[in-house]
Amino acid sequence: MPRIDLRRLILLLSLSVVTLTAGNLFFASYQTQRNFLMGQTLEANRIYALKLANTTDNFLKSAQQQLAFSAALLPAIWDQPQQLWQEAHRLRRETNSFNSVTVIRADGQIIAASPSYLNLTGTFSNSEGFHQATSRRQPNISQPYMGSSKHLMIQISHPVFDAEGNYLGYLGAGIYLNEPNILHSLLGEQYYRDGTYLYVVDTQGRLIYHQDPARVGDVVKGNPAIDAVVAGQSGSLRLHNSQGVDMLTGYAPVPRIGWGVISQRPTAITLEGLQRLMLEVAGYAVPLLLLSLLGIWWISTLISKPLWQLANSTQYWGSSSAGQSVSKVRAWYYEAAQLKNTMQKALMSLHQQLGRLNQESVTDPLTGLTNRRGLKLILDDWESRQQPFSLIALDIDHFKQVNDSYGHSAGDLVLQHLAQQIRRHSRESDVLCRQGGEEFLMLLPSTPLAQAALVAERLRTAMAYTESPNGIPVTISLGVAGWPQGGQTVAQTLQAADQALYRAKDGGRNRVVRDDEQPPSDAPNS
Ligand code: GH3
Ligand code: MG
Ligand code: MG
Repeated sequence: MPRIDLRRLILLLSLSVVTLTAGNLFFASYQTQRNFLMGQTLEANRIYALKLANTTDNFLKSAQQQLAFSAALLPAIWDQPQQLWQEAHRLRRETNSFNSVTVIRADGQIIAASPSYLNLTGTFSNSEGFHQATSRRQPNISQPYMGSSKHLMIQISHPVFDAEGNYLGYLGAGIYLNEPNILHSLLGEQYYRDGTYLYVVDTQGRLIYHQDPARVGDVVKGNPAIDAVVAGQSGSLRLHNSQGVDMLTGYAPVPRIGWGVISQRPTAITLEGLQRLMLEVAGYAVPLLLLSLLGIWWISTLISKPLWQLANSTQYWGSSSAGQSVSKVRAWYYEAAQLKNTMQKALMSLHQQLGRLNQESVTDPLTGLTNRRGLKLILDDWESRQQPFSLIALDIDHFKQVNDSYGHSAGDLVLQHLAQQIRRHSRESDVLCRQGGEEFLMLLPSTPLAQAALVAERLRTAMAYTESPNGIPVTISLGVAGWPQGGQTVAQTLQAADQALYRAKDGGRNRVVRDDEQPPSDAPNS
């Protein structure tokens, strides 16, 4: 099974680290932004609710002051219906704060009312507002109630006493909650376009102002913000409203009457911008991410390449190209350099051993000269490289007699003696072979035939005049040929040299015969 390689492992590791880190950062920044946005909206709603609660409180306070001022004028004109009406009318028209203004006697009869079209004058009031105002005989703001004109309303009232302090009745101003009035302008004008909206509840949790007029009068239950604001607290909350919408809510009470102002914005709208923001973040991050991935890919290639090349070069361990492919590796860091170094050493010793074995297989053990196998390798090489050479074939004369007279081991010593002489008469570049038995070959590269013949002659002379280990000289016969000559193959040249050698034997031994020479005369050369 093919194993996963180092480059893929590095890539895999880096990719997972990069992906995890980027994902983490992205998630963390999303969370931070989200919490920040929500916190900001909650705080904005809290401040907004507080401000509007304050405004409403101020409005009620100034309305009460206006009523107090008017009420102080009433005892003097209590018996003059026309003037009472004028005062009521003035109060309604000048301030523009109230939908209706009435003057009501202690027994409940309405003695003045504006606007006139309500036709209330002379009637008896039995409203919730009447009962609240009469029972308390103090400046009062009523709880919302359904008025005789079928309006959900509140009544702000101020008692009227005569000079002796007797209770005469009260001055009442009505504000219709589900019709345009001063509260609507105070609250509704503040309506934001960013999804934020307001509503106001009374102490019972009943909606007395809402952007949707149809909901005014509904009682909202189970809303923690309403519970808190009715209890007189201000603050902010994230909650699901009665419609199940996730909301960021701020709330504050109106101290004068215990109402609650609630400002809220859907969480989804608040977070809408966040998605765009995160996409923008991704837009900046992705090109850099791709760039760093490219960098990682490049670096992982750089790191793994030397090891990969070293690992691959083991495929050719036995061949000579292994050393080449190992030394080509750019081992630029410690581990790779160590491996390369060790592999080179191992290869070197391996090739030395192989070289020694090869040397042994092409060497004749008795004389140390190249054997027949080595000769073939060299001749093949020279033929393929078109290396010109001359060839001397030589054979010991009457060697059988040497063996017969002195013994086989004495014969071996003579062979070694001859090898010694051959070496002495050769150059470094010459190849010296023992073909087998007592037949030898000398290959002289880039040497003309005539010059080779001179070498052969010197060798013959040396042998003829030098004592062999047996105490008497041993002579040799030699044949000389050259390659390339006359389109002959190397094998034909070998035969030509052999034939020249035979001619030397035939001619009487102890002589040199050239391949290109006429058949020899009987006389020896020397
Ligand atoms: P000539 O060449 O002059 O015609 O006569 P010769 O007696 O030398 O004849 P030939 O070349 O046929 O002789 C070969 C002899 O060489 C036969 C064998 O006894 C001897 N010989 C061959 N190899 C060895 C060897 O390794 N050691 C010894 N001592 N003798 C060998
Ligand atoms: Mg022979
Ligand atoms: Mg012989």
